[in-house]
Amino acid sequence: MAKSIRHLVLILGDQLNMDSSALAGFDPNQDAIWMAEVMEESTHVPSSKQRSTLFLSAMRHFAQSLLDKNWAVIYARLNDANNTGTLAGELAKAIEVHKPQQLVMTAPGEWRVLQSLRGVAKQHGLPLEVRDDTHFFSTVREFAEHAKGRKQLRQEFFYRELRQKTGIQMDGKKPVGGQWNFDEDNRGSFGKQGPGMLPAPLRFEPDDITLDVMAMVKDTLPQNPGALNSFGWPVTRHQALQALDSFIQHRLPSFGLYQDAMWEGEVWLYHSHISSSLNLKLLNPREVVEAAELAYKQGHVPLPAAEGFIRQVLGWREYVRGIYWTQMPEYVERNEMQATAKLPAFYWTGNTDMACLRDAIHQTLEHGYAHHIQRLMVTGLYALLLGVAPKEVHDWYLSVYVDAVEWVELPNTLGMSQFADGGVMASKPYVASGKYIDRMSNHCKGCNFNPALATGETACPFTTLYWDYLNRHVDTLAKNPRMLMQLKNLNRLTDDARAEIASQANLIKNSH
Ligand SMILES: Cc1cc2nc3c(=O)[nH]c(=O)nc-3n(C[C@H](O)[C@H](O)[C@H](O)COP(=O)(O)OP(=O)(O)OC[C@H]3O[C@@H](n4cnc5c(N)ncnc54)[C@H](O)[C@@H]3O)c2cc1C
Ligand code: SF4
Repeated sequence: MAKSIRHLVLILGDQLNMDSSALAGFDPNQDAIWMAEVMEESTHVPSSKQRSTLFLSAMRHFAQSLLDKNWAVIYARLNDANNTGTLAGELAKAIEVHKPQQLVMTAPGEWRVLQSLRGVAKQHGLPLEVRDDTHFFSTVREFAEHAKGRKQLRQEFFYRELRQKTGIQMDGKKPVGGQWNFDEDNRGSFGKQGPGMLPAPLRFEPDDITLDVMAMVKDTLPQNPGALNSFGWPVTRHQALQALDSFIQHRLPSFGLYQDAMWEGEVWLYHSHISSSLNLKLLNPREVVEAAELAYKQGHVPLPAAEGFIRQVLGWREYVRGIYWTQMPEYVERNEMQATAKLPAFYWTGNTDMACLRDAIHQTLEHGYAHHIQRLMVTGLYALLLGVAPKEVHDWYLSVYVDAVEWVELPNTLGMSQFADGGVMASKPYVASGKYIDRMSNHCKGCNFNPALATGETACPFTTLYWDYLNRHVDTLAKNPRMLMQLKNLNRLTDDARAEIASQANLIKNSH
């Protein structure tokens, strides 16, 4: 390696794409790459064993592919004896040893990390060039422009704008099929007969690099949540492309219809399981959307399935990123509903009598995965109804899922699921009683509780807490026209019924 480096290119654990903007113009004769595994990233929230393994293994595989090109890579391993434990510490060390003239990076996915690396650059009097992340369809500036002057932000409008700009699923100026959104067709349940034979997900046997990382994670982070027995996530671009192809072939055709459905013990259903590959940048959202569009054009998948899936990637994913970067750093502190309760301890173990929560949490700890409705309408909903402090809920989601990176996790958790931003992200709180879970799954059939009851020994805690939530927040919620129907039903309850619900809700709250 040359004594003095022109550009030290910083590559973070979720920036594992060769076509990264940071690597544009990379000159192997003058430049070097810096990557670091550090304890802070696995402990500032206790990153689950699945998540830690995925990030670290994918980083090591990516570093290997850079080395295969004969590029200079300065790589700090988590268990190196002299590892300082922080990104800032490792970067400072690399600067002192290699004396680069300039630092270059792609904009990171977390505000905290950007501040910390900027701080190191400043301390060393070095220019840090932060380049746009070209891995997204839109820039944060485009989102800010879209948001300017709007009283309310809505995913649907940003999504339409992006479809018009990109021409994706467009027929001239009109959306393919004559409507923008087939959400109405995306809410099927499996009915009494259940999902039947489901296509097996494509999982990957850990190779030597992954096995090494797994051993290190077990050794250095034994207290972090979750298990590793079932680890099978894509850790290379090649594997991620195979996983995408398997989804398009076998699950996309039924994705639309069963997007919201749940079934006891069935982890994978018709979802894509590509969020971690997208967020680590093993996959590019453009190729993902293109593959779905092509499958529709070839008649392999129905329009509502293709549109429903494209809306998640082109719509929701881009929208939440815009929300994150335009609202931070204040956003993480927001607590509109003034929720202060602690997260129940069973979120870290799954030990609860509530069948729906038990199932969602067990699979989360085992695989680092749960689909959107499990996150929003089971674990998220229970925390919301219970009045858990949003920061605690945020820490849990950031810890346990393999796809958790703050830019996407925070708006989904704090905004969409906890309504702690007062409506920036979603137009109303996503609140429902146990009856919703009963409609969308078979969990209630095997549960000690009854989703139709709000009081009494067998009352479903979701149902009790749902009415209690509406009652507690009636003044705030009454200002929201989208809550009128639900509040109308609340008004039908007598004062005695409300008092009984409040007292049962207190018993539930005190039991956690
Ligand atoms: C409380 C909560 C926390 C969440 N935390 C994360 C997170 O940390 N990381 C993450 O990637 N997603 C998060 N999501 C969004 C969503 O639940 C996951 O993207 C999805 O479950 C991943 O599984 P999948 O790949 O099988 O997705 P699919 O259901 O197959 O959807 C396809 C893709 O669309 C994208 N997508 C779907 N919904 C969203 C959304 N709401 N926001 C952004 N992208 C979306 C994802 O990239 C996903 O891979 C969260 C949702 C909630 C309600
Ligand atoms: S009865 Fe209530 S707690 Fe039990 S599975 Fe149904 S919704 Fe969940």
